[in-house]
Amino acid sequence: MLLVASTNAELGFAAGMEILHAGGSALDAVEAVIRPVESNPDDHSVGYSGLPNILGQVELDASIMDGKTLAAGAVCAVKHYEHPISIARQVMERLPHVMLAGAGAERFARELGMKKKNLLSDTARAIYESNVSDSPRYNTMRELVSRATHDPEIAASVDDYGDEKRFGTTNVIAIDRAGNFASGVSTSGWAWKYPGRVGDSPIIGAGNYCDNRYGACACTGYGEMAMRANTAHSVVLYMKCGMRLSRAAGEAMRDLRALTVPFPPGMNLIAVDARGKHVGFTTETDRVVEYVYQTETMKTPRKKKRAVVPLSPQKGK
Ligand code: ASP
Repeated sequence: MLLVASTNAELGFAAGMEILHAGGSALDAVEAVIRPVESNPDDHSVGYSGLPNILGQVELDASIMDGKTLAAGAVCAVKHYEHPISIARQVMERLPHVMLAGAGAERFARELGMKKKNLLSDTARAIYESNVSDSPRYNTMRELVSRATHDPEIAASVDDYGDEKRFGTTNVIAIDRAGNFASGVSTSGWAWKYPGRVGDSPIIGAGNYCDNRYGACACTGYGEMAMRANTAHSVVLYMKCGMRLSRAAGEAMRDLRALTVPFPPGMNLIAVDARGKHVGFTTETDRVVEYVYQTETMKTPRKKKRAVVPLSPQKGK
């Protein structure tokens, strides 16, 4: 039994471990870990209180995958519903589809009896409306989006929303007592994104992939890169082709070096192999980035440093 996740998911570990200890499924554990993160008002990268798009609307993406059957469910650009991970799970279990977008996902959530909620918390609104600039680098998303459009509504909002580069996501990989894997990802995506922008988190293969036979991987960071390189699936495929976990994850990170990008981004992943060995990787060189894990014998989760693979090649990396 195992949970491996981005550090902000620690909040849900007790619920997830309880399910696993009781003999519950990896899928149930993944959903149970992610739901409290989606409700956390202090986490501005996921669910309620996530930071909004450039027009001040919170739009959420999420996906879940079953490593036993390779079934998957996802939703993207969902407004007004706090738990996109649960909508994604129901898409997987009830529909002959993998992904629902925007209004369709909201309609399905409504049909399932899920409650609508205003997802823009006062704090998130204050951040959106503030104009505090730490560094010119933090303005990038605003600049790129505003440069790309002449829409007057967007142009007007660009003048007053917050300057910080804001991103984040939660992801978790679980193995249950029966040895089945599941993985889930949930995010409010990049703050100040263009309305309707969808990142890697709900894209199976890009931000999330899981296969009992080889292992699982989930990403956080600049989703456009993981979408272009199919990062999560690459890690699993490299393991299928015979690479050990660390090598497979490192190779998928190095694949990102071929991509041209409009600004220096960050990419992170967590990955687990078929035997339950786990790693975390990051491209970030100027700060320590951790992930969190818990096995069946551990009473509390433990944090571990992610290995660094810089986006620009450096000696020995
Ligand atoms: N990967 C997410 C996205 O691109 C954001 C993040 O993880 O920071 O939407």
